[in-house]
Amino acid sequence: MEIKTLISSTGGTGPLARATQPARRGMLIVISGPSGVGKGTLVKELIRRQPELLLSISVTTRAPRPGEQEGIDYFFRSEEEFMELVASDALLEYTQFVNGLYYGTPRTFVEETIKQGRDLVLEIDVKGAIQVKERWPQGVYIFLLPPTMAELQVRLAKRQTEAAEAIRQRLSVAVDELNLLPLYDYQVVNDDLATATAKLAAIWQAERCRVSRQLAHY
Ligand code: ADP
Ligand code: 5GP
Repeated sequence: MEIKTLISSTGGTGPLARATQPARRGMLIVISGPSGVGKGTLVKELIRRQPELLLSISVTTRAPRPGEQEGIDYFFRSEEEFMELVASDALLEYTQFVNGLYYGTPRTFVEETIKQGRDLVLEIDVKGAIQVKERWPQGVYIFLLPPTMAELQVRLAKRQTEAAEAIRQRLSVAVDELNLLPLYDYQVVNDDLATATAKLAAIWQAERCRVSRQLAHY
């Protein structure tokens, strides 16, 4: 478009006028990667630094770990209750994790938050992220990598939330999950926590500046 046309269009609904309109839809940021890579730790840190970001709270059939709270860490539900949510299409995506337990993302919260123009983080496993991408390709998909597989094992062990067999299962799934890395938009190595958090914040800021995200119809 010529500069003259661009400038003359600012008074109406032209591109510059639209570019300054506040009416944008929220952005979905999906953060996944192998269990133990540090998703939960990093997402908490990101939201502490960027409190305008909202976090989607998942539903799970897993029992709470010591210190975990209902509605803050997860919505803890029985398998029967979870399957009722699935049957009523209340979940945007769900997965049966390697531990045999179910995890899912409540749909309404995601849809309402996006409609209100707020940006939302989903911290979910790789299978779930791929399901979301099929429905929501305009989201931002970030894969967190461990510095090494040995360090991933150390982190899972250090967390002391799984027995040796469960850690072995999570590590074997991690190898399959890594094969799906090309489906993501960004990869971030969670080596130093502060550096990785800064990279997530930088990706978010850059994505917010995309011209296509300023357009009302987007
Ligand atoms: P996930 O949510 O991906 O399963 P967690 O956030 O529970 O992983 O982190 C797994 C373990 O690794 C925790 O004990 C956490 O304190 C530790 N951890 C997370 N990030 C780092 C990091 N950058 N350096 C060292 N340890 C980390
Ligand atoms: P944990 O039992 O360690 O809290 O979680 C196990 C795995 O489930 C992690 O990889 C975590 O990211 C994933 N997870 C948590 N919530 C959801 C969800 O709503 N959907 C999917 N697909 N995975 C989830």
